[in-house]
Amino acid sequence: MPLVTMKQVMADSLKRALDPKEDPKERYAVGAFNFSTIPEMVGIVEGARSKSSPVILMLSLGALKYIGSLELVADTAKGIARQYPEVPIVLHLDHATDLEMIKHAVVVGFTNVMIDASQEPYEVNIEKSKEIADFAHKHSPRGLDGCSVEAELGMLAGHEDNIVVSEEDAGKAYTDPKLVPRFVDETGIDALAVAIGTAHGFYKAAPKIRFDLLKEIREVTGVPLVLHGGTGVPEEDFKKCVEMGMSKINVGTGLKMVYTDAVREAIRTLPETEYDPRKIVGPGRKAIADEIAQKSVLFNCAGKSEAILKSLY
Ligand SMILES: [Zn+2]
Repeated sequence: MPLVTMKQVMADSLKRALDPKEDPKERYAVGAFNFSTIPEMVGIVEGARSKSSPVILMLSLGALKYIGSLELVADTAKGIARQYPEVPIVLHLDHATDLEMIKHAVVVGFTNVMIDASQEPYEVNIEKSKEIADFAHKHSPRGLDGCSVEAELGMLAGHEDNIVVSEEDAGKAYTDPKLVPRFVDETGIDALAVAIGTAHGFYKAAPKIRFDLLKEIREVTGVPLVLHGGTGVPEEDFKKCVEMGMSKINVGTGLKMVYTDAVREAIRTLPETEYDPRKIVGPGRKAIADEIAQKSVLFNCAGKSEAILKSLY
């Protein structure tokens, strides 16, 4: 099975999010999870498979720097997708700012790219996001609409590799619902990342999510909405976001924690004569799979794979 686009994987979730008659409990979001090594990629996909859930493999610029090549990531993800044909898998480049690099990701086969020009003035954000949407919809090796595009309006607090926003600044920069319709229409993007109170990395205190804003934004646009900064958000708040129509949820920091904790535990408990990396990294991969399985249930996308695949092929 080839990689699928975010737009394809989210069509059903979006339909449910937009239908006012849909039971909120039937709505679901698809999880996007960061990785920087192959065991993490495989752990993410195995976790999704265990719950018959679609999944989004998410590459940050930091992980890209570490791995060194967009081609290597794309080819690895394509190989994993062939190995796990029962899992709808999207390969997503997160928070990219360099237009040429994003175009390169499209050309090598990423199936979702995020142009983050949210720190630029509104007009520049529109211009750059439109340039990427136009390019991605035409130039994917998978043909027309072979790669979908996510852009951001408003700023999230925290650290995202090349982008740092203080919590104070972010407070002033929630997504303004009034700016959403023109942004979506003029850019032609496929999904919108919103700033409604979450932050990247760890929280000093539990985040206060602006559900009022989420409601307003959901009402003024027809594209899927994306929640960034998913680590440390209370489970109840995740559920509420999903019930109110959030279609994609990004989780990064939380995964690094479960992976590293498991590896640390393996090193602590194994005899010093144990040198097999599989015995050390393996528990990390398993811990990630367990975490993804749990998130799939929380985001209510467990059991959705089959219907998504049926709609595609
Ligand atoms: Zn993010």
